[in-house]
Amino acid sequence: MEANSELSDVSTVLSSLLEKLHKLPLNRRELPTLPEDGTIAEARRSLPQTLSENGHDDWAEHLVRDITPALNASSLSPNYYGFVIGGCAPAALFGDILASIYDQNVHIHLPNQTIATNVERCALDLLLDLFHLDRNVWGANPTFTTGATSSNVLGLAMGREWVLRRKAKERGSQLRSVGKHGIYEVMEFAGLKKIQILSTMPHSSIAKAASIVGIGRANVVSVHKMDESGASSIEIDFDRFETEARRADVASILVISAGEVNTGQFATGGLRELQRLRSSCDQHDVWIHVDGAFGLFGRVLPPEDEEELGEIVRGCKGLELADSITGDGHKLLNVPYDCGFYFCRHNDIAEEVFQNGNAAYLTSAGSDDDVSSPLNIGIENSRRFRALPVYATLLAYGRGGYIDMLRRQIRLARKVVIGLWDSEIYQTLPKASSKAEIVGKTFIVVLFRARDQNLNGDLVRRINSTRKMYVSGTIWEGKSAARLAIANWAVDVERDYQIIRSVLQDVAK
Ligand SMILES: *Cc1c(COP(=O)(O)O)cnc(C)c1O
Repeated sequence: MEANSELSDVSTVLSSLLEKLHKLPLNRRELPTLPEDGTIAEARRSLPQTLSENGHDDWAEHLVRDITPALNASSLSPNYYGFVIGGCAPAALFGDILASIYDQNVHIHLPNQTIATNVERCALDLLLDLFHLDRNVWGANPTFTTGATSSNVLGLAMGREWVLRRKAKERGSQLRSVGKHGIYEVMEFAGLKKIQILSTMPHSSIAKAASIVGIGRANVVSVHKMDESGASSIEIDFDRFETEARRADVASILVISAGEVNTGQFATGGLRELQRLRSSCDQHDVWIHVDGAFGLFGRVLPPEDEEELGEIVRGCKGLELADSITGDGHKLLNVPYDCGFYFCRHNDIAEEVFQNGNAAYLTSAGSDDDVSSPLNIGIENSRRFRALPVYATLLAYGRGGYIDMLRRQIRLARKVVIGLWDSEIYQTLPKASSKAEIVGKTFIVVLFRARDQNLNGDLVRRINSTRKMYVSGTIWEGKSAARLAIANWAVDVERDYQIIRSVLQDVAK
């Protein structure tokens, strides 16, 4: 690669990029949610068989002509309701492009060489403000991660460190740090048989995180309440929880699902419940981790929304009593992949788990502020400047922008629930005793199925093949169901509702 080739000049690259962007069909109101039939097969045929010796002259044309038409519009279209995707708000896109151009490695705090770590810390503080989390309590080593899965790994790793330390100390063991001695020796010396995760309907990434940190998927134990019909609910059964937490020879971490991914509902229902859990956890040395990947955003809502959105406001109350909290940036914050964040109330645990040896060149030189070098408090060493899009979007839209965005998302979800409840063709899930109950519990996720078995079996395929909107297929109580998650910043309640309504009518014909 010649240094003076057109590739080396960033401004040349950018102006040629802008020219090409103008040709792309990016008008989000008209974008099909999925590529046209045959486009992906065509793109697949255009992939090179081998690495060329001298590069392809038309590489950029190829990207625009062959690759982009074969990408879905999961982020670009506000009518893509699969998974919980979120879009990319304009300010976040600007921040992300700058992050790529300047391509900072945000690993070590180098206060005299780059502002990057200060921007990252500021973005994290602004996020704490957004979620009404006290900076003085939650300001100990917050960090950006690659997503909620990594944040959950951080939460379980730090929880494991803390609960085993506590148990080991009580039992007079000299070996206390898992970070230093490993999980097996600490448990053996403390006479512990097991470490477990207690939760209700945890996201699948909790089991994955349990596997990664040596707790094990089989040790994720459900402590749910049964509802009247005998079905399991997302609510925590306090007595079951306490029976598990009290077990001798077992250390526990409680994971609160603040926003369950199928239904969007919350595991806890207010401050009193959290206070009760907190005091039991203090008594039994249990760490509380909140998986608030998208549900944490309920805390953005102001108190005056309690009347309209009470269940959500209450579902988020008291979460500040936890030890650690997971949140996702690439979902409801509407910044691009990959971005998650993690908050913890304990000062000394992060470094115990994540310190990167003591290589002298990796400490923060000349620092007189309280910014930690990210490589000592999280998984990665080299890291992308993923704080910049977050910083940009929070600066651009402020608290008010996010309140407005979330209200539009919730109101659309609730309008859809009302339409489905009133329809003879569809049925909302989980079962509810009244329309008011299910509407009140609806956050940004709508779970439903067709009453007719035949239609239901083919429902998700039919909806998605319209390319006007996209939903996820899932299984609820053993039967297929469709799930619609509203997470895009560009939601327009009236317009989008008409699209959803007409698609759901058409596919039932
Ligand atoms: C999406 C999600 C995760 C996983 O997040 P990633 O960002 O995909 O790693 C974890 N927990 C909950 C509740 C989620 O919704």
